[in-house]
Amino acid sequence: MTDELTRLDRAHHLHPFTDFKALGEEGSRIIVHAEGVYIHDSEGRRLLDAMAGLWCVNLGYGREELITAATEQLRELPYYNNFFKSTHAPAVKLAAKLSEIAPAHMNHVFFTGSGSEANDTMLRMARRYWALKGKPEKQWIIARENAYHGSTVAGMSLGGMAPMHEQGGPLVPGITHVRQPYWFGEGRFGEGPLNDAADPSAQAFGRDCAAAIEARILELGEDKVAAFIAEPVQGAGGAIIPPESYWPAVKAVLAKYDILLVVDEVICGFGRLGAWFGSMHYDLAPDLMPIAKGLSSGYLPIGGVLVGDRVADTLIEEGGEFFHGFTYSGHPVCAAVALKNLEILQDERVIERVREDLGPYLASRWATLAEHPIVGEARSLGLIGALELVADKAGRARFDKSLAAGNLCRDICIERGLVMRSVGDTMIISPPLVITHAQIDAMVDLARDALDETARRLSL
Ligand code: PLP
Repeated sequence: MTDELTRLDRAHHLHPFTDFKALGEEGSRIIVHAEGVYIHDSEGRRLLDAMAGLWCVNLGYGREELITAATEQLRELPYYNNFFKSTHAPAVKLAAKLSEIAPAHMNHVFFTGSGSEANDTMLRMARRYWALKGKPEKQWIIARENAYHGSTVAGMSLGGMAPMHEQGGPLVPGITHVRQPYWFGEGRFGEGPLNDAADPSAQAFGRDCAAAIEARILELGEDKVAAFIAEPVQGAGGAIIPPESYWPAVKAVLAKYDILLVVDEVICGFGRLGAWFGSMHYDLAPDLMPIAKGLSSGYLPIGGVLVGDRVADTLIEEGGEFFHGFTYSGHPVCAAVALKNLEILQDERVIERVREDLGPYLASRWATLAEHPIVGEARSLGLIGALELVADKAGRARFDKSLAAGNLCRDICIERGLVMRSVGDTMIISPPLVITHAQIDAMVDLARDALDETARRLSL
């Protein structure tokens, strides 16, 4: 069966983010089953999924309540839309639930089918808001280099990943990118830990990154910028945790020029940082929050934009019809599953557990990997974390790019039964929020083992 699937896969299936020609004879790994934090492949191997799929399976695999919610809703009303003055209970109840858990000033949601669509939606909303306010010249969106905001044309234009920009252009106009608050990645490793009060250089760096936003605003024109978009902790760019000084300084700049704050919560939302939203962890009070992934724990595709009162009131009171929407906006089955997912996160106090117990426990265990000879930094916040691979700690040298050390380490992890992701030479984890202490121990042990083997194969 595996051979036949591999043959058909090669013959007919174009995969996202995959160099298909480079897959080799063995083809793709075929995942057949999953439970809790584990996935199983067609060769009968069990892997600890330290990435929660694509940062989304927050409740872990195999939750019967979600399966039941989907099945019941499929029987009751498998599809209807929310266009043209119709609606249905799952979308309404989910909207109300999201308003309950979101920051107090966010009381409306526009549903989409994915995080990319959520970012397309927020872009149109932000520009439309300013047009309705009589300031149509406020058009520019400032985003960050190396950011990921999705794969639609607007999503990838908002993202700051050069290889994406180079394919299938042109980009959406009116988007510009500024530097990211990546303390380690800017070649500063060895200059001190990220949030060490005794070492102010990282904090000065955070303020410099916020100052870069102000400089760009002044270049574009004080009254030309509609919004700034960023993730609280940048996910696909490399689990980049900003210095504590960054967000307060960014907020002050945006307030000074009356620019909307868009916080992309597609990864950080729904408990990843130990709060319902990353915005709550950093006290951000955004105007717009794109959401997806953990909204349904990835069981069914659903996303949306949470809209703050300032923007929502304007759209409702002054906007008339918003010519925008997707066939699957608020899809009843997806909405029913998302609602059940949020209820479980709430009833089982999953998010409190991440904040009070699992996050601190992971931090203490993960930090031990910083002692490894090929690890330059081990950082984590809540249940997101990264390891920076280096060739020489004392000499502050990265591995030669041609060695592809990150991909090697990722493949060795898989050989050992652990799914970690590599972004260049940054190894990332973002496990299900229901992971136990014992499973965290197992994850750290497997990672250490894989680091040893990576160092050995690189003949260090
Ligand atoms: N925004 C962020 C921060 C993401 O990480 C992603 C996906 O990884 C997206 C948006 C796009 O979401 P989707 O893949 O559901 O379109």
